[in-house]
Amino acid sequence: MSTNLEKKKYSCRLCKSKKLQIVFSFKKSPIGDDYINRIKKTKLYDLKLQHCKSCNFVQLSNVIDPKIVYGNYIYVTQTSHGLSEHFERLANYLLKKKIIKKNSKILEIGSNDGTLLKFFKKITNKLIAVDPAAHLFVDKKVTNIADHFSNKSAVKIKKKHGKFDTIIANNVLANIDDLDDIFKGIQKIISNDGYLIIETFSLYGLLKNNLIDNIYHEHLSYFTIKSLKRFAKNYGFNLKEIKFLSVKGGSLRYIFQYKKMRDNKKLVRAIRKEEKYTNKIPKEFKKLKLINKLNEIKLNQFLDKQIKKKKVIGGFGASVGTTTMIFNYSVKNKLNYLFDNEKRRFNLFCPGTDIKVLNPNHIKSKKIDVMIIFAWRYAKIILERNKNKFNKFTKFIIPHPKFRILKKNKL
Ligand SMILES: [Zn+2]
Repeated sequence: MSTNLEKKKYSCRLCKSKKLQIVFSFKKSPIGDDYINRIKKTKLYDLKLQHCKSCNFVQLSNVIDPKIVYGNYIYVTQTSHGLSEHFERLANYLLKKKIIKKNSKILEIGSNDGTLLKFFKKITNKLIAVDPAAHLFVDKKVTNIADHFSNKSAVKIKKKHGKFDTIIANNVLANIDDLDDIFKGIQKIISNDGYLIIETFSLYGLLKNNLIDNIYHEHLSYFTIKSLKRFAKNYGFNLKEIKFLSVKGGSLRYIFQYKKMRDNKKLVRAIRKEEKYTNKIPKEFKKLKLINKLNEIKLNQFLDKQIKKKKVIGGFGASVGTTTMIFNYSVKNKLNYLFDNEKRRFNLFCPGTDIKVLNPNHIKSKKIDVMIIFAWRYAKIILERNKNKFNKFTKFIIPHPKFRILKKNKL
């Protein structure tokens, strides 16, 4: 059912076909990043992926009003482990390849706290950042536009700043419902032969590495190379380069150019690599469903035994992915506390639960017997960084992508 606050998608975001089929369903879940300082009864929304049979694109079955999804937005790029280093490598690569040159005019959509743009300050002072949360980023050398990028805002930008040599949109495209509007806007302000750089989470990564904790309400689209390539072509952008990235466990970098060109061999190879997983999407999701059902059963059996023995259960990692896992694995009533090294999360409650996030300094005093590492991709860093804070008797669980109990607390 569609309401003002929740819109059901009946046609494909990219090709407009109505041939959509649900391929993966979670239990109803709250808005995953809505960590707040009180226990609140939260509305639960559908969290389902649907597959477009016409263009092989995977997208959420609904779109929740951004005011609800981003109401208590606290994400800042720098808090994501390793992202700053990753952006530095990207900046160096673009300079080396002369995609960005001295005095290039660059616009970044979704610039967040400016982690990427700051690497270009030495070679150009023509830097423009567009982000509704522009207050996160104040820098004399960068022009900040506090707005959502759209076809409408592009008209204003063009009037004031003209056209751009390079436009960057990293980790933002998947969160936008109306991609036609965005591409119309980009088309208005890109120079001839200009570059469009996009990094976004990939369906390939999701299917290959069982990254279902990257499915949440903010994340509307799960791109494949072919689907985004075809869509961008409608607006005159041709794919020049593709690179598989480890960001979020499996992302892709697309470098498009506003110019006609032929597909190169590397591109064909990348598409073939991806198609091992994306040729039979419904079947691949069926496999994931079975694997994760087994994870859920094992985790619950283990926790039930521990709870019978009156053990204290903690979880490590208080992110949007943790919410997805807590709800999908039905463990919200089995956890006593969550812990996270990010101090902005201290004393907030995981959405839709009464589980409080604490400073890891409290692990000993709370006598945590079992610690489930929800931030499983960072398990090594978490164990190392907090090793003096754990009790000797604490048992560690990795719940995902495959349930396991750590032996001697070693990975
Ligand atoms: Zn489609």
